[in-house]
Amino acid sequence: MNRVTVDREMCKECEYCMTFCPKKTILAKSSTVNKKGYYAVEAVDLKDCIACGICATVCPEGAIMVEKDV
Ligand code: SF4
Ligand code: SF4
Repeated sequence: MNRVTVDREMCKECEYCMTFCPKKTILAKSSTVNKKGYYAVEAVDLKDCIACGICATVCPEGAIMVEKDV
């Protein structure tokens, strides 16, 4: 399965990744805040992820890493 890793301490909750992801079930805000007080985004269900990398590209914080399953 493809892998999406979000560094939750870098996330500022702008939601760009969630907005531009072509699939709507993968990324969601967590229920607890990070050290900066933001409800950081996490990958909750990766089965539909196509590893397009859009989330990583649009993240202004560089907080997301996408790894394609080979
Ligand atoms: S790699 Fe593409 S499909 Fe997967 S979570 Fe990021 S934007 Fe969505
Ligand atoms: S684009 Fe980056 S900073 Fe913005 S919500 Fe997503 S992970 Fe957080």
